[in-house]
Amino acid sequence: MEAEHVWDGDFDKRLESCIWEIFGAQSEEEAAAREAELKESQPRAGVCPVQWGQQDVAFRCLDCELDSNCIQCCDCFFKAPHEGHEVALIRTVGGSCDCGDPHSWAPSGFCPEHCETPQRLDNEESLDLLPPLLRTRAEALVPELMAQVDQRLTPRLRMHGLRNEAEADKTIREKQAALVFGALRRLGEAAFGLRYLVVQELQGDRLANWMKAGVDEALFSEALERFFLLYVQVSPCFKRTFAKTFIRQYDQILQDAPRLDALGVQFLTIPEVAVELVAKEDAFGALLSAANRLLTSVVDHEDENMVFQDPEPLQTNWEKLRSVFHSVGFLCFHKSVCEHILKTPSVLEAIAEVLQRLWRMSPQQRAIVRHVLYETRQLQIQVFTLESEILRYFFTLCDFCRRPQATLEELQPLYAWLVASLQDSRGFLSSFNNASAASFHLPALRLLTLSLNFELLLDPSLADSWRKIFPRDFLVTCIMHTVRTLRFEAEIRAGWWVRNGESMRAQHVDYRTKFRQTDIMTLQAFMILLHMHGSEDTACEPLSCLWTAVFSDDAPSASKPEASVWTSWRRQWVENAVSEQTRTRFRLFWLILCQVLNEMFPIEVAACRRDWEPRYSYRCPVILQRFLIQVLATGPLSLSELANMVPKELQVREGQLAEALEAVATRQDARYVLKQRSWQHFDICMAEAMPIRSWRDGTWRERQHRAEEKALAQEVSMLGPRRADGLTLAPAWQDHLVESLCNSELVPLVVDFIEIQSSFRQDKEAQSSVWRHPAQHEDGSLLHCLKVLDILSDAQSPHVPGAPATLTAHLRLPVTAATGGD
Ligand SMILES: [Zn+2]
Ligand SMILES: [Zn+2]
Ligand SMILES: [Zn+2]
Repeated sequence: MEAEHVWDGDFDKRLESCIWEIFGAQSEEEAAAREAELKESQPRAGVCPVQWGQQDVAFRCLDCELDSNCIQCCDCFFKAPHEGHEVALIRTVGGSCDCGDPHSWAPSGFCPEHCETPQRLDNEESLDLLPPLLRTRAEALVPELMAQVDQRLTPRLRMHGLRNEAEADKTIREKQAALVFGALRRLGEAAFGLRYLVVQELQGDRLANWMKAGVDEALFSEALERFFLLYVQVSPCFKRTFAKTFIRQYDQILQDAPRLDALGVQFLTIPEVAVELVAKEDAFGALLSAANRLLTSVVDHEDENMVFQDPEPLQTNWEKLRSVFHSVGFLCFHKSVCEHILKTPSVLEAIAEVLQRLWRMSPQQRAIVRHVLYETRQLQIQVFTLESEILRYFFTLCDFCRRPQATLEELQPLYAWLVASLQDSRGFLSSFNNASAASFHLPALRLLTLSLNFELLLDPSLADSWRKIFPRDFLVTCIMHTVRTLRFEAEIRAGWWVRNGESMRAQHVDYRTKFRQTDIMTLQAFMILLHMHGSEDTACEPLSCLWTAVFSDDAPSASKPEASVWTSWRRQWVENAVSEQTRTRFRLFWLILCQVLNEMFPIEVAACRRDWEPRYSYRCPVILQRFLIQVLATGPLSLSELANMVPKELQVREGQLAEALEAVATRQDARYVLKQRSWQHFDICMAEAMPIRSWRDGTWRERQHRAEEKALAQEVSMLGPRRADGLTLAPAWQDHLVESLCNSELVPLVVDFIEIQSSFRQDKEAQSSVWRHPAQHEDGSLLHCLKVLDILSDAQSPHVPGAPATLTAHLRLPVTAATGGD
């Protein structure tokens, strides 16, 4: 260590005089005055350096911000032009002013003081803007200050010849380092040239060492974070250097310095930086290997499926795990990064590898008497959050795949990796949810579904390519896994899984709100794909797959010929004594079939983004009207309540909502009430597909019940709009689903079931009971069966003129009379 860098005597005085010296002053007052002069002499450019602590006040502007995290400080806000903009005053929890950063804020909303940093202010030209004397002093003293930091970041073991540093020495050392960081930040706020001098000194190993030193326990960690935040914010060059060093040491930063990890948002959100990190620094490799390591640390064992440890002592690891996926989400936010992912096998492999470990994670064992202690509610919350956040953070990648301009050629690698990863998942072909062991988690399969491009799937010229990507056995196995997950939930509701009561009940609610809809979409997509393979083999015919998956307890086997649906139906229901389990499964079969054919709302929303004109302008009004009809049927609601409920993905503006409301509702006081004629478009079977985030499960059910009663009083069919009404959702998609069932035994099944019910009702009228059948009490299933029939006839009417008449000829039951049930 060079002697000149050792500061003896009073450190605080020494640091103070060093700063005064840079400004050429003898006292703090003088230094402050010179500093102010210097600031005044600088060009009005660059990013605002204001930072916040907890609970400071700042402004959002919905018209100027590029996302909801962006804010402006009060000073900038009042100087910037926001006339007629939608603005909000908020309290912050840290961060910095975004004025001058075109990646966060629309340049038209910058204040006159700030703008994107011009290159000349971020390189050595900036030194020319410093007064010559100040420049000379700073060139000598900035390196000196940097050296003071170096000395204070690591224990001075050798100097004192001690093995361990005394606690008091450590405290002094760390407090002094914090003071230097503060001083360096002050310089950075004063002038472009001073920033440049600091940034020049902060490269390579020194930068890496400073980052590594930023462990959370260190007394200077907050000062260091604020120091880094300032320089990352104001110097685009340093931002890139920092980002690269950050990613190279990601794992260590994540382990020791979560405070610095939070700085990721400063550069991962910038497209050029993100692309560079992904392409040149393998950012996905770094992030996902950190995720893998963290997963290992929270796992108890994973011989068959991943079983987690009690999260209590591992809370920070769970938080870090979420933080990693959050960073992944920032990267996926950029279209150019999504493009890169699809083209890069190593990234696809890294994604598939993490998801593969999570396949059917956290399995539940059914035990009637014994409670398993490790399985707390807390653990299940963590596991559900993990899967749903993974899907959420890959959401923009999924959107990228679903955009209208995508080609199958471009998407094929992602699909192929996910298919291969699933096929290699442990127990994929042999281990399914059954009556004694089950899991809710299928992340890779759900990501696959969410990334499917629906338009390309319906393009007949691509059938060959689709068949190659999705082999038939794979589709059958996935349908089995998906149906068994839906069955798991149905059996919990039927009281079959009573172990750990509260935890189990909560899990089924989590499942309904987070994954159930995606699972229905999986079945929709995979039935269409299966149909592309031809259905000469009964085991691979969609309806028969569905039936087998619902009723059987075994794995599907290619060798064993499956009984036909019709034979199985006859066999199961011929006797009076039918087990409660079979009844539960029978109801589930009709429910799933009905939802698969009917729940087009999520597909429509997935395919409708504001960016995707003209599809957006064409479909959005229909989606909105159907949504409003379903929601307003449950009772009057105000405009703001409705605006909160509309799926955020649609990015609906108030004007669009008002227009859709105009079509279906009337205003009474401050609330909207459904118009009389809108009731005929109410669909009693669509409740599950409604994305009601603000209502808890119970409330929604209660309101839904009210809607059904009101609809009943309107004397309408409650089966929803017909094609002719122009309000059906995703009609082309629905046609393909109906088409996929063309070789099935659906029609005789429907007819038989309705006949049983019909003769039972006639018996009731005649007060006689000559003939009894176990299915005659299944009113709930009848409703779903009638809805299926309605969809079939409505879909077929334009294509096959005779079809609906032939179908209805078999029926002795008028549709409208039966829907009410008993
Ligand atoms: Zn500002
Ligand atoms: Zn500003
Ligand atoms: Zn604005």
